[in-house]
Amino acid sequence: MEKGNLSINSENILPIIKKWLYSESDIFIRELVSNACDAITKFQKLVGMGEAAAGDEEKYSVKVVLDKENSVIKVIDNGIGMTADEIKEYITQIAFSGASDFINKYKDKIDEGGDIIGHFGLGFYSAFMVADKVQIDSLSYKDGEKAARWTCDGGIEFEMDESDMTQRGTVITLYIGESGKDFLNPYKIKEVLAKYCYFMPIEIYFEDIAEIKKEAEKTEKAEEENKEDEKKPEPINDINPLWLKSPKDCTDEEYKEFYHKVFTDYNDPLFWIHLNMDYPFRLKGILYFPKLKHELDSIEGQVKLYNNQVFIADNIKEVIPEFLLLLKGTIDCPDLPLNVSRSFLQNDGYVTKMSGYITKKVADKLNSLFKKEREEYEKFWEDISQFIKYGCLREKDFYDKVKDSLLFKTTKGEFVTLSEYLDRNKEKHENKVFYVTDEKQQAQYIKMFEDNGMEAVILDTKLDNPYMSSLEMYNSGVSFSRIDADIADTLKNAGGDDEKALTEKFEGLFKEILKKDNLKVKVESLKAYDVSGIIQLSEQSRRMSEMSSIYGMNFGSMPVDETLILNSNNNVIKLLDKIVGDESRKDDAELICRQVYDLAVMSHKPLEMNEMTEFISRSNKILEMTMNM
Ligand code: ADP
Repeated sequence: MEKGNLSINSENILPIIKKWLYSESDIFIRELVSNACDAITKFQKLVGMGEAAAGDEEKYSVKVVLDKENSVIKVIDNGIGMTADEIKEYITQIAFSGASDFINKYKDKIDEGGDIIGHFGLGFYSAFMVADKVQIDSLSYKDGEKAARWTCDGGIEFEMDESDMTQRGTVITLYIGESGKDFLNPYKIKEVLAKYCYFMPIEIYFEDIAEIKKEAEKTEKAEEENKEDEKKPEPINDINPLWLKSPKDCTDEEYKEFYHKVFTDYNDPLFWIHLNMDYPFRLKGILYFPKLKHELDSIEGQVKLYNNQVFIADNIKEVIPEFLLLLKGTIDCPDLPLNVSRSFLQNDGYVTKMSGYITKKVADKLNSLFKKEREEYEKFWEDISQFIKYGCLREKDFYDKVKDSLLFKTTKGEFVTLSEYLDRNKEKHENKVFYVTDEKQQAQYIKMFEDNGMEAVILDTKLDNPYMSSLEMYNSGVSFSRIDADIADTLKNAGGDDEKALTEKFEGLFKEILKKDNLKVKVESLKAYDVSGIIQLSEQSRRMSEMSSIYGMNFGSMPVDETLILNSNNNVIKLLDKIVGDESRKDDAELICRQVYDLAVMSHKPLEMNEMTEFISRSNKILEMTMNM
């Protein structure tokens, strides 16, 4: 037996590994199983090159075995194997020179945490996060080599010995300690295997010794009657993920099935984008647009990132543009140094290029749907619009690429682009888009608009406020106005002097009765005879106050610049004009003023509670009066 010291010049590295380097201890399974797959892939390559010979019906696989009774987990492969010298070189020397590099380079940043080990060839040592002692038994493919055993209990000493292995490959035995006891549960291991190893390229089998013993007892009892019943073990993984297939060979059914399976979403996705790039970097993957209609808050995307079919993490925003994280998908980048810390990724030119490529692919897909399948695209629009708007807000670059494919839904249910809308309405209003934020609330205005042959679009989500502002910024000269913002201008007849005189008269009256000193009143002759009054809001001040409430900013309650527009074409206003100044009708005039004001307010926002009770009791009084006449 040979004893040796791990070649390491700084103090013991293992406590550092245990404490800082991995955020999640379950990562040891990923590291050991992917080493095992690599060992098999290397062997297959050697066989392919005629450098090694495989057995006749060699079946390559990785086995993960749980022996709860003995607190042991094993990872077994029939790959390339290692000689005693190779174990010393790969496991003890390289790893630990990697470790000291690592310590020197990152000593200031070490408490940043994250997933750094793999980058320095330290993956194997993640085993010590869960094990008190680790043993490697290995038999190299090379002729004439003896099987070797290496053991280490997590200190800086290791032992080398001969092993009794007779089959080519490697067995890693973990003697699980207190810190790893959660992993002695078969469900836990299966869960972790499903998380990290689901698309690894070699078949992986899980064996639970306790379960196998139980089964064996059962078959004994059944006296081997139903031997055919024996279940054929199934690998836990899919070694050919769809993203590796050439897009032209994939059917819609396959894409959908893959989506259902990977994201456990039973709805079909709307459409998808198959990413397939070889130069200047390798990247493959599938991005799905899920079906959703809700507000952004409730959208939960999931983009899984893989490095050569090994799962790394969900939703790494340094690699995938943030707005794309609302989608669902899998992305495999074999060249990305995914194990390095995230702050490194942020400054990496390669990562920037990659995220630019993904953005472009998404934009291309949207543009091609818009051009070639507009009808379908319109059907999707409401599902995808939140995502697209968010993308436009987050990235000007994305906006520039998709700007001609952005749609607006009109109050009549049609879908138009910005330029189509501006073009077909330019006779009535140039470079201006009218919109509604609440179809029910603003029904009165919509009707007035439609009666006058005008059209408005619906922009009714929280995102629309900032979205409009950025559209205005990107398209100079174009402005958005809510339907009640300039309504008097849009609907008024050529007004005469009458209106001016009336304005003076009514302004004083309404201010006094409503006790609102700041209220602005204006009389206009509107082309809508059955409307007595409407509230006109300044677009800018309303948008500002909405923004501040969305972002929870407190500017005190910001005053919204509002004007009560009274319609001189309406009979109520005409009659009111007649009784103003008549002392005996003073109460009636007050009643009418209040009612006219409330009606105007109601068509653009809900009344407050006390205003509502007053409105109802006043309305009843008016009904009573009509019957007494
Ligand atoms: P990395 O995999 O990042 O290189 P590891 O510490 O996980 O770092 O492994 C170090 C080296 O040990 C590997 O590069 C490989 O050469 C060797 N090795 C690890 N596990 C196995 C295995 N199951 N079979 C053969 N060689 C292995």
